[in-house]
Amino acid sequence: MTDETQNAAKLIVVYGRVSTSNQENEGTIETQLSAVREFAQKNNYTIVQEYLDDGWSGDSIVRPALDQLRMDAKKKIWEGVLMYDPDRLARRYSYQELVMDELREAGIEVIFVTVSAPKNSEDKILHGVRGLFAEYERAKITERFRLGKIRKVKEGHVLTTEAPYGYTYIRKQEGKHGYYEINPTEAKIVKMIFSWVANDGLTIRKVVRKLQELAIKPQRSKRGVWSTSTLTTLLRNKAYIGEAHWGSSYSVVPEKPLKVQQYKKIKKTSRRMKPEEEWIASKIPVPVIIDRELFSRVREQLKTNFALCDRNKKNQYLLAGKIKCICGRTRGGEGPQHGKHLYYRCNDRNYSFPLSPTCAQKGINARITDKLVWDKIAGLMSSPELLAKQVERWMSTKRAKAKSSFGDIAIVEKEISKLKDQEERYNKAYGAALFTIEKLKEYTDPIRARMAALESQIIKAGQEADRINVDLLPTKTETKIFTREAGKALKNLNFETRRAIVLNTVEKVVGTQQQLQVSGYIPLTLNHVEYKTSYRYCWASQRR
Ligand SMILES: [Zn+2]
Repeated sequence: MTDETQNAAKLIVVYGRVSTSNQENEGTIETQLSAVREFAQKNNYTIVQEYLDDGWSGDSIVRPALDQLRMDAKKKIWEGVLMYDPDRLARRYSYQELVMDELREAGIEVIFVTVSAPKNSEDKILHGVRGLFAEYERAKITERFRLGKIRKVKEGHVLTTEAPYGYTYIRKQEGKHGYYEINPTEAKIVKMIFSWVANDGLTIRKVVRKLQELAIKPQRSKRGVWSTSTLTTLLRNKAYIGEAHWGSSYSVVPEKPLKVQQYKKIKKTSRRMKPEEEWIASKIPVPVIIDRELFSRVREQLKTNFALCDRNKKNQYLLAGKIKCICGRTRGGEGPQHGKHLYYRCNDRNYSFPLSPTCAQKGINARITDKLVWDKIAGLMSSPELLAKQVERWMSTKRAKAKSSFGDIAIVEKEISKLKDQEERYNKAYGAALFTIEKLKEYTDPIRARMAALESQIIKAGQEADRINVDLLPTKTETKIFTREAGKALKNLNFETRRAIVLNTVEKVVGTQQQLQVSGYIPLTLNHVEYKTSYRYCWASQRR
């Protein structure tokens, strides 16, 4: 080696990472970087770029800057990656190895400030042992930390300094553990809130509004207002009856994340409750603010409120499952949320979430629609003229259709149900955030197209079959009797009966706020209409 090559600066990049929760132990990204930069200078390295993941956990190797670094490594512009220690890559040794191997394969040298990177196989074994040992040490520390916490709780320590609303945390003094003391002002408010719910039957939303009116603010809140979830937690907090718990929940990776994110700073963002017998009751007596009787009455009241809540109430939708939007999606009944009306709204926005919906159609007032459609059906079934007109119309369309043969309906129906299952599976997978909305559309659009084709095949086949039985159509007298009986029977029916009739007669309702198109069949064998013939009449009507 000549002096010249020794002096030529090596082109390297720097990788840095610190997690949010561990900054106390790991230092800030700045302290890490200053050590790295100093090391680079000493060794005559030229830093051409810095890749930083600030606030990222080492539990996963899916991090934006690290991903970029790994991609750039393949371009072979620089010769090495310098970082503080192997932990910057990942906490787990196997992940560290994975990234290091990949970089080495690309001909990139991996350099650490604290330890020397393995150069030969012996080094590698040594490094491996060190990595495994570090991993073991970490697990041991975590476990020791956990056991220590349990011991402390059992000895009567309060492990959090954040007292629940209504209490003040008194820091530990010589020979005395930290403890909770009643905060008189807040305790008065806690009592008031419990009483509002138990004695006045206020809902949590009403409590929020009332606190707002009284200008009472919560302890910590960005918006400075109480949220329903804060209040729900407060009303369930057993600390108020003198039972403080520790370890009632643990953090997990969320099962159904609200957002589909490629990168996550912290994986375990959800909390799950442990079974009550695993909770560790703190021995420190928390001063009682609420008596048990009031506490349990609040619990009951909350249950009742939930059952009575408008949003949880089952609303009656006459056309549920039958009504569609002109965009092709189904419309779903949606209870009153900001007003008192019920609506049938296009389900497109549910499918499109979290993206904005592609269908701009408005919701249709459910009560008005139900009445329009019902009046139409009842009117049609009880008027011999209208019914005769529909029969005539139906017959002429049918005659115009050319004769053709169709496959076995049962087979086609089977295939449709298979396709439905398939679509359902994709929807579920999308719900579980396994892929994006674009992918969902890509998967389900061909399925839906196929289903539509098969469905129209069935309808055509049905028309074909009916055509053969033209001579078995009911006579004018039969139609007259049917409509007369129907006219009597269709009056003053309860919701369930009307719903049953709709399910039997309506094939679909397609509509916008301006226009509804109803199509369906009237079987002349309705149980409550005493009429015996087994043929169906197809009808379609339009109205504003
Ligand atoms: Zn729509």
